[in-house]
Amino acid sequence: QALQPFSAEEILAARVFANQAGVALQNSLLHSELQQWATTDPLTGCFNRRHFFELAHREFERANRYGLDLSMVMMDLDRFKNVNDTYGHAAGDLALKTLARTCLDSLREVDILARYGGEEFIFLLPNTNLAGAQQVAERLHQRIARLSIPLNGEQVRLTTSMGVATLNTHCSSLESLLQHADEALYKAKAAGRNQVTVWLPEHE
Ligand code: GH3
Ligand code: MG
Ligand code: MG
Repeated sequence: QALQPFSAEEILAARVFANQAGVALQNSLLHSELQQWATTDPLTGCFNRRHFFELAHREFERANRYGLDLSMVMMDLDRFKNVNDTYGHAAGDLALKTLARTCLDSLREVDILARYGGEEFIFLLPNTNLAGAQQVAERLHQRIARLSIPLNGEQVRLTTSMGVATLNTHCSSLESLLQHADEALYKAKAAGRNQVTVWLPEHE
């Protein structure tokens, strides 16, 4: 008589179990994919704007409650339209990807980076005061300026303008932090681009 190691019931039970495990695994993969899709900008891998605000509100509450520093850097690529016009939109996308990678590589674990708009990025720096944020911005600004990005067989250099702001007595909400960073960025553009500008009270 041939050995029958498993009964029909046991085989059925194993099948049912394997099926359920498979479904659970698939669900969790799907969930993490969905999660990724909902929070991340597909081109650059940075957080999207919506998720940025979710995280930023959390960071703001924390900073407010415990009296911690919180700073923001708003970054916009200089004359980026020229890149598209000269090398094409696909090359422009590639440049954005490369820049985002450099930004992501430059930040600390706790920093939050998002693609704010087309060629605009926003950084939220917890436990960082104005001087610290300025240092982060200057370092990144230089790092990007030194990059040489291969586009259609040419080595292309890009510059950025950045606005830096911090929470303080002049600036006590997330909205005003955003507004100050934006104002500082505007100043950087107006002053000739390719620079980091810090928001100061006399700007008011
Ligand atoms: P400025 O120094 O004043 O910022 O000049 P600019 O040309 O960068 O600014 P402007 O806002 O006039 O144009 C931004 C350009 O960025 C417009 C668009 O062609 C390009 N851009 C925005 N999003 C994307 C994108 O996802 N991919 C590509 N390739 N280009 C983008
Ligand atoms: Mg621009
Ligand atoms: Mg722009």
